[in-house]
This record gives sequence, C-alpha cells and structure tokens, in this order.
Amino acid sequence: MAALDGLPPLRDVIQRHGLDARKALGQNFLLDLNLTQKVARTAGSLEGATVFEVGPGPGGLTRAILALGAAKVIAVERDARCLPALAEIADHYPGRLEVIEGDALKTDFAALAPQGPVKIIANLPYNVGTQLLVNWLLPAQWPPFWQSLTLMFQKEVGQRIVAQEDDDHYGRLGVLCGWRTKAHMAFDISPQAFTPPPKVTSTVVHLTPNENPIPCAVDKLEKVTQAAFGQRRKMLRQSLKPLGGEALLLKADIDPQRRAETLSVEEFCRLANCL
Ligand code: SAM
Repeated sequence: MAALDGLPPLRDVIQRHGLDARKALGQNFLLDLNLTQKVARTAGSLEGATVFEVGPGPGGLTRAILALGAAKVIAVERDARCLPALAEIADHYPGRLEVIEGDALKTDFAALAPQGPVKIIANLPYNVGTQLLVNWLLPAQWPPFWQSLTLMFQKEVGQRIVAQEDDDHYGRLGVLCGWRTKAHMAFDISPQAFTPPPKVTSTVVHLTPNENPIPCAVDKLEKVTQAAFGQRRKMLRQSLKPLGGEALLLKADIDPQRRAETLSVEEFCRLANCL
C-alpha cells in the first residue's frame, strides 16, 4: 500500500538512520502501512484529539495517527537514535508532533494532557507494556484523563486483560481492567508482520473507561487480588487467611470454599470493601 503522507518508506528510514532493532528496548518495528493504519483506526475518530504514543521508534504508527487526522501527537521515546527520523515527520506535520526523549514509565502523562479529548495509542515494548497499562488504570481520579487506550501486547497479555471469571487467563490484571474499563481484543498480528519478528503473536486491545466503576479503594482491591491469585488453586479461606480468611469471606457473603478464579469483579470489590 502506498504511503498516505508522501514520506519515504519505513525501510529506507530505518536504513538511513541506522535503526537496527535492539532487543533490550523491545524493538519490533511494524512496517506494514495497512496494519499501522488498522491499529490507528481501532482508536475511532482522531479528529481534534491529542494522541499520546509510547515508543514511536522510526515512526510508522505515528505517521498513521497523523495521517488519520489527530490534532497532535505527543510521543515518548527512550531511544535517542530514533529522534532524527521522528524530526523528519515533525517537519512534515508542522506543530502536530512533539517528541519527548525519555522513559515512559517515568512520564507523568496526566500532567502533560491538554484540554480536549486524549487517546493513547501504542505498539508497546513488551518489557514495560503491562506496567504502563496498570499505571493508566490506577489513578484515584476516575474517569481518567484519557478517552481510550489502543495498545498492542503479546497475545497472552491481551487474553489476561479481557479475561473474566472461570477463564484460565483470569487474574489480577483481568480484575483491574474489568473493574475500571470495558476491554476487548480487536485483532491479532502475526510475528511475520514485524521487523524483526518476535517469537509470539501480538494482539491489539482497545479499552475505554467505565464511567461508574463499583466504588472500591484501589489499594484494597490490589491486596485482595494479590492474596487470592497468589495461591489461585487454593480455597479462598486459605489464600485470604492473612486478610481475615473465613470471617472476611462470610462478611462479604462469599462461600469460603470457592477459588479465586471463580469470583466476579463485583465479588472482588465486595471483599475489598469488607477489609
Ligand atoms: N511504534 C513503533 C512501531 O510500531 O514500529 C515501535 C514499536 S517497538 C515494539 C517499541 C518502542 O518503544 C521502541 O521504539 C523502543 O525504543 C521504545 N521503548 C522501549 N522502552 C521504552 C520506554 N521505557 N519508554 C519509552 N519508549 C520505550
């Protein structure tokens, strides 16, 4: 597919700037323009929106987001080698791309968020993806500063994000995501679509905030899910012993013989509220 923007093909950009992929930075570049556009489109209309992107790399997904009409992209990239390539994109879209060189895990995205709709779109580095997602889900203030998250993960992480009770992938991440968001897996991307190909299939997950999640303190919910899933095969009266065991479960009106993976998000919130 021809570039939407008249900028050079990504393979040329990578070669010209010597951007050989570094494993330590989770660099698996997506060069297929059909796919970068499909990822960006999964976020819905970008007109008038500010998009935060983590890890733009050579800028394939960044270019799709800008071509699809985002008012502005604020991109955080840790690898300084990518900055000249990104500067070429910024020149092509004057005033619409701001690149911050730094570690996304240390970036205060809420403080950078302007007025108006904010969406987050990223092909996340595998080593920090889950932690970034959790950071975006934990703020005391809810609904959060973002309207949606459109994120690429290893498929197994995507399955944990959307998992519900009685599903093998259900755990702390599924409870947190189910509590505060509506999440679905949009589509998979095979390893061959990336340069270099990763070992596993990737998946794009789209999350939007639940406007009114069940009232519950985040730290208590974390405590309960950590204890319950820390020993997921045991009965809850055993795994939750340090938090009150059987008495806590009876107070929350939950059968102490049940196991963590059978509890709904609502039941976990009830337990947290009884702590
Ligand atoms: N967006 C590009 C694409 O889709 O082809 C690159 C995605 S690649 C999977 C992950 C990118 O995240 C790399 O460019 C890498 O340098 C960057 N990165 C890795 N760790 C980071 C961190 N902690 N903060 C910001 N960027 C990071």
